[in-house]
Amino acid sequence: MSAKLLDGKTRSTELKEEAARRTAILKEKGITPGLAVVLVGHDPASEIYVRNKNRACENAGMHSVAVYLDENISQETLEEELHQLSADPKIHGILLQLPLPKQLDADRAMACIPPDKDVDGFSNENAGRLMNGQEGIRSCTPKGIMDLIAMSGVSLEGKHAVVVGRSSIVGKPVAMMLLEKNCTVTICHSKTPDLAAFTRQADILVAATGRAHLIQGDMVKPGAVVIDAGIARVDGKVTGDIEHESVSKVAGYLSPVPGGAGPMTIAELLMNTVEAAERSLHEV
Ligand code: NDP
Repeated sequence: MSAKLLDGKTRSTELKEEAARRTAILKEKGITPGLAVVLVGHDPASEIYVRNKNRACENAGMHSVAVYLDENISQETLEEELHQLSADPKIHGILLQLPLPKQLDADRAMACIPPDKDVDGFSNENAGRLMNGQEGIRSCTPKGIMDLIAMSGVSLEGKHAVVVGRSSIVGKPVAMMLLEKNCTVTICHSKTPDLAAFTRQADILVAATGRAHLIQGDMVKPGAVVIDAGIARVDGKVTGDIEHESVSKVAGYLSPVPGGAGPMTIAELLMNTVEAAERSLHEV
C-alpha cells in the first residue's frame, strides 16, 4: 500500500485564493492588507525568498513592501526602520528575514515589531501566547504543518505525536500546537538515543531537522501521518528529512518535499497578514 500524499501545493493555492477573497472584502472597506519584508544583507537565497513573498502578496491583491538594508547597518538604524514600519498604518505585517549579520542582535530587533504585526509569530509575546494556550499570531511553518495534518482527516485527540527537531521556529511550536489538539507529544532531538524507538510509536510524525533522509521506512508506524518539514540539498536536488520511497510504503499519509510544508509557509504568511488587517479594522 502506498501513502496518500498530503499535497501542500494544492492546499496552499486554496489558502492564497482565500487570502485574495478576504483582501477584496477588506479593500471594499478601505483597507488593503500590507506586508513589509525586511532583509539585511545580500544573501541570494534570502533575496529569492523575499521576492517570492512579495510576489505572492501582490498576486493576492495585497500591498507589499520589500526593505533591503545594507549588511553593515547598525542596530540603531535597523531598529529605527522597524519602528517606522510599525507606525505605518498601511503595514499590517512585518517580517524580519533571519538570520541577521553577526553585529546585529536579532532578539532586540524582533522586540521592535509589535506583536499584532508579528506575522511570522516569532516574537516572545506570540511564542508565549502559544505556550500559554492564548490567542495570538501562530508561526507560519508550524501552522502550515497543522493544516497538512488536518488534510488527512485523522482525529488527533489522544494520538501519540512525535516531533523530531526542537527549534523555536518549527519543532517547539509544532509540538505545542499538537498538544493543544490533545495529542500526547514527544519531542526528539540530536541527543535523543535510539530515535527509531520513538518514531515507531508515532501516530503523527513530524520531522524538522534538515538532515536529509533521516527517517527511513523501518522507523515509521504503519498507517502513520508523516509530515516532512526538512529542506536539504542532495546532489543539487531539494529533499526532506523523510526517505520518501521506503516511508511511502508504510505511512498512511505523507507530505512530500518539495510540494508539502514549503508552499504552505508562504500561504500562511498571507493569511496571517490578512487576519492582522482584519483585526486592525475592528480596532478603528
Ligand atoms: P535547526 O537547525 O534550528 O533545528 C534542527 C533540529 O533538528 C534541532 O533541534 C536538532 O537537534 C535536530 N536534529 C538535528 N539532527 C538530528 C538528528 N540526527 N536526530 C534528531 N534530531 C536532530 O533547524 P530549523 O528548525 O530551523 O529547521 C528544520 C528544517 O526545517 C530545516 O531543514 C529547514 O530548512 C526547514 N524549514 C522549512 C521551512 C519551510 O518553509 N518549509 C521553514 C523553516 C525551516 P538539537 O536541538 O539537539 O541540535
